[in-house]
Amino acid sequence: MSQVYTDVVKNPNQYNGDVLAENNSTSGEKKLYIESYGCQMNFSDSEIVASILSDAGYATTQKIDEADLVLVNTCSIREKAEQTVRNRLEHFNGVKKANPNMKVGVLGCMAERLKSKFLEEEKIVDLVVGPDAYKDLPNLLKEVETGRDAVNVILSKEETYGDISPVRLQTNGVTAFVSITRGCDNMCTFCVVPFTRGRERSRDPKSILSEIDDLAKRGFKEVTLLGQNVDSYLWYGGGPKKEFIKASELQQKTAIHFHQLLDMVAVAQPKMRFRFSTSNPQDMTRDVLHTMAKHSNICNYIHLPVQSGSDNILKAMNRQHTRAEYKQLIDDIRRIVPDCGISQDMIAGFPGETEQDHQDTLSLMDYVKYDFGFMFMYSERPGTPAAKKLQDNVPEPIKKHRLQEIVALQQQHGLWRTRQFVGKTVEVLIEKVSKKSDVHWSGRNQQNTVVVFPKEHYQVGDFVEVLITDCTSATLIGKAVSS
Ligand code: SF4
Repeated sequence: MSQVYTDVVKNPNQYNGDVLAENNSTSGEKKLYIESYGCQMNFSDSEIVASILSDAGYATTQKIDEADLVLVNTCSIREKAEQTVRNRLEHFNGVKKANPNMKVGVLGCMAERLKSKFLEEEKIVDLVVGPDAYKDLPNLLKEVETGRDAVNVILSKEETYGDISPVRLQTNGVTAFVSITRGCDNMCTFCVVPFTRGRERSRDPKSILSEIDDLAKRGFKEVTLLGQNVDSYLWYGGGPKKEFIKASELQQKTAIHFHQLLDMVAVAQPKMRFRFSTSNPQDMTRDVLHTMAKHSNICNYIHLPVQSGSDNILKAMNRQHTRAEYKQLIDDIRRIVPDCGISQDMIAGFPGETEQDHQDTLSLMDYVKYDFGFMFMYSERPGTPAAKKLQDNVPEPIKKHRLQEIVALQQQHGLWRTRQFVGKTVEVLIEKVSKKSDVHWSGRNQQNTVVVFPKEHYQVGDFVEVLITDCTSATLIGKAVSS
């Protein structure tokens, strides 16, 4: 999965009024304050945690001072992400002085990576819970209430939380995430996810469809199907993992692959818009592209991390595809879904990266001309194959310089892409007031590019045809032309 970061969002309960109303449905005399960091998977998990604790008598609050329980859903993808969490825990020390009965818990990937060591390293922490153990939270809290610390970091091969109806924490009532897989079986050498989120498992399509139907009934207009690697979604009726089933038996089972799930949701809710994240070049099938082309309510946008443009580095990263295969996939996307928006993930300065490897990354970006991307310097993660076998030998100044070149080139390409829309009309789903002007709406087109236009009589949740009149490298500016 790429780390499609919504950088630190403090207190995801900071909703506008109307969502809060929904929140009051999670009544309870105890108060939960939850912060989430990292990727969308973590935000989606925080909604599952809020639901589990709502059944245990916790209502969510935005005011940390009145919280009985403070939970931090942590990220471990880079050193910086972990340092951010440590700084927040430091901040909670001050809060706890005024509210000594307050309990503090850490969830997510950093909790899974550090396990009980977290309790030794951060004295304020009472509770450490890994991504697959959230259903145990009510029991663990009973332990904590008796004054004992509590830890559960057992990873599961089955848990998908498919039976939990998430409390929508992070939304404007228009867009929502629905997780379809958990964990990852790929072993990219730089990545902690397989160690912090465990083996891959797919969720029952019935529970996915019922969650989407419920969202449709509640007026949501867009759903993003979420997974570390959505392309390896495979449902064959649950039970033991596919590699433990005899091939003959597997044939009898009706396996549902990602493109079939995509087709099912598009047909089930024709008025809803669908996105998915994150795709994986080594597992993406052309069937997915044909399914996108078949349904106008599946957005023409793919987040397709590549991390490097050099075959040497792709090999060292254990990415199961070559530069040429990735380019072939891009060609097929351009052929089958011509106006598809494509975004990337790039890592600058991976161990052993030469200037030529870096030039290969820049030339691949020139070939694709991505709409936007998530670009980072290599950050060695303890426990990963790269940390064990590869020396982090690219000097920091060179890492920084290469990242700057990648970011600058992406900005050029972003502007080249947004300019293609000037003079065209695009369908926009209004999500919120524009950050820069409260007389303008902000939403996204099918290609996941932000569009800003005057409010007029339109409302959040409306689909509006917008004529694009201008642009920046990341935003389209226009005027509504819907009748
Ligand atoms: S191991 Fe690779 S595919 Fe899996 S989450 Fe990490 S980067 Fe993504």
